[in-house]
Amino acid sequence: MQVCVYCASSGRIHQDYFDATAKLAKLFVKNNIKVVFGGGSSGLMGQLADSVLAAGGQIKGIMPQFMNEVEWGHRGVSDFVYTQSMHERKAKFLEGTDALITLPGGPGTYEELLESITLKKLAQFTKPIVILNTRGYFDAFNNMMQQAVKENFMIDDLKYLYTIVNTPEEVIPAIENAHLWNKGLRDAGSLR
Ligand code: AMP
Repeated sequence: MQVCVYCASSGRIHQDYFDATAKLAKLFVKNNIKVVFGGGSSGLMGQLADSVLAAGGQIKGIMPQFMNEVEWGHRGVSDFVYTQSMHERKAKFLEGTDALITLPGGPGTYEELLESITLKKLAQFTKPIVILNTRGYFDAFNNMMQQAVKENFMIDDLKYLYTIVNTPEEVIPAIENAHLWNKGLRDAGSLR
């Protein structure tokens, strides 16, 4: 199995976020799951890569060339793909992945998460999306999505789009138990 992980570049965050990321990385390696990530060396990206490598797992970075030129890439990761643009990078994140995992992060992480949810709503991406809600970080995001449902900007299908879990131990079971998304649901997915 291969998962793509979206997460923070910031390192100025609570230790709980680092601990949850390290624990999740170990669980991925233990379960023989290959990790694809943004390739960064800072914040939760750096923690993720450090922990996967320390546990002897497989990790691949996908990064735009301009980030490599300013040396943002993680030096310990040898499997790297360099893209021309952020858009190309996001498309490559989704290629061949069996699930998307979102850990807490800033605008870059939110943007990647919302694009994948939007694609899933349109059935252009159909794999599980799991959000790790460490310290309740994504409560506000989830409320925002529920508000969109309540005000009829989207149908009440959030459980088909993503799963929110509170602990790293719940992530892999959430991938395995995710509600399947298919074309029939896409057709039901538009509000007219
Ligand atoms: P954010 O959630 O805003 O920290 O951004 C995470 C996303 O933005 C990831 O996809 C990163 O590739 C990209 N990003 C932002 N800053 C950096 C950085 N210093 N190094 C690597 N990637 C970064």
